[in-house]
Formats: sequence, structure tokens, C-alpha cells
Amino acid sequence: MSLKDINDRLKAAEARAGRAPGSVTLIAVSKVQPVERVRDVLAQGQRVFGENRVQEAQGRWPSLMQTHDGISLHLIGPLQTNKTRAAMEMFDAIHSVDRLKLAETIARIADEIGTCPDLFVQINTGAEPQKAGVLPDDTDGLVRQIRDLSLPLKGLMCIPPVDQEPAAHFELLQALAARNGLEGLSMGMSDDFETAIAHGATHVRVGSAIFGERVYQG
Ligand SMILES: *Cc1c(COP(=O)(O)O)cnc(C)c1O
Repeated sequence: MSLKDINDRLKAAEARAGRAPGSVTLIAVSKVQPVERVRDVLAQGQRVFGENRVQEAQGRWPSLMQTHDGISLHLIGPLQTNKTRAAMEMFDAIHSVDRLKLAETIARIADEIGTCPDLFVQINTGAEPQKAGVLPDDTDGLVRQIRDLSLPLKGLMCIPPVDQEPAAHFELLQALAARNGLEGLSMGMSDDFETAIAHGATHVRVGSAIFGERVYQG
């Protein structure tokens, strides 16, 4: 698949769902991908990228940002509290807010530096023990606490269990967001982003379908 194929499929899914053109942001997930592939996708015009580790992003994006204008970086992986400042300096959005302590740290640093990335609360829609995110029942409480901190909360994010139909999880996330008056829905990956768009996704996170399979070094 090329970036153009993915963009064409995204536009078609928007149209099928009766969504306005441009209402879905494509986040190209470049984690673990060799920098040549990233440069290739930059050369094709993509500017919104997702990384799941602060350190990996720090390693390569500063230099890519010097040679390319308008890059927007989204953190989609878990965030340790001690990396909060570094994450806030590097990323335009954080999709993995999942606890009050992290939100409080973000608020304190935002006061200091005068800016804050867009925030999404990660929901563990499948209640999987090994997965990050708050349980669906705890969503309203955490959303309220984050709003009390006057943080720029944009929406909710989920990663459905690998062995289940994602649609039910997308519906759940959509319902939780609607109930809390949140518009952002970060959901959908390479295998299911069209389904996610049909259920209201505003941000889809697509990695391997754009870049090819990830090659992990052992
Ligand atoms: C890796 C990752 C993706 C992209 O996955 P693909 O299946 O390669 O599209 C999306 N979201 C999160 C949170 C990820 O960690």
C-alpha cells in the first residue's frame, strides 16, 4: 500500500459515512520504521506522524523537523510520568493519558511552559489486564478530573483487543465520548481504520499499511 492508497480509502470511508471531507486526520505511525521509509512518506506530503516511545521520537524527529515544515507529532504509546516534560516538548498531541497523576504532572508543566499538547484519554475498552488505559466505567471520573485541571482534553482513544471484532469497541468509545461531550475519537489502525471511520473516528493511527511491516531488531 502507498500513502496515496490509504488517503484514497480514508476519503472514500469519510464519504460513505456521510462525514465531511477532511474530518478524519491520518496519523502515520512511524514507530520502529527505518528513517529512510519515514523520509519517503514525508516526501509524499504526509505531515502528521505517530510514535509510541518518547526516546525514539527524540532520536530522529528533531533533525527531520529541521528539513521539513509543518510536522505534527502524536504520542500514541504509554507515557511514564518522568518522561512527561520531554513528551510535552516533542509532541503536539498525547493519546495515552490514563491516570490522574499523569494529568496533574501535565498540568503543572503546562503552567510552567505555557503550552500543552492536545490530550486524549486512553480507554481499555476490552478491560484487558495487560493493556494500558482506564476502564470504561472510570472514564467519566477521569474526564471530570482532567477538566478540573483546565487541560485541553480533545477526546478518547482505544486499542481494541486483537482477537475481537473492533466495531463493538469503536461503538463503546463513541458512546463514552458522546456522553462526556468530547468530539475527538482516536481509533482505527491498518486493519480496521475504515470501520473506525464509520463509527466516528476523527484520528486514525495507521502504521504498517503505509510503511510496510515493522522490523523489530532482537
Ligand atoms: C503500532 C500502533 C498503531 C499502528 O498499527 P498498524 O497495525 O501498524 O497500523 C496504532 N496505534 C497504536 C497505539 C500503536 O501502538
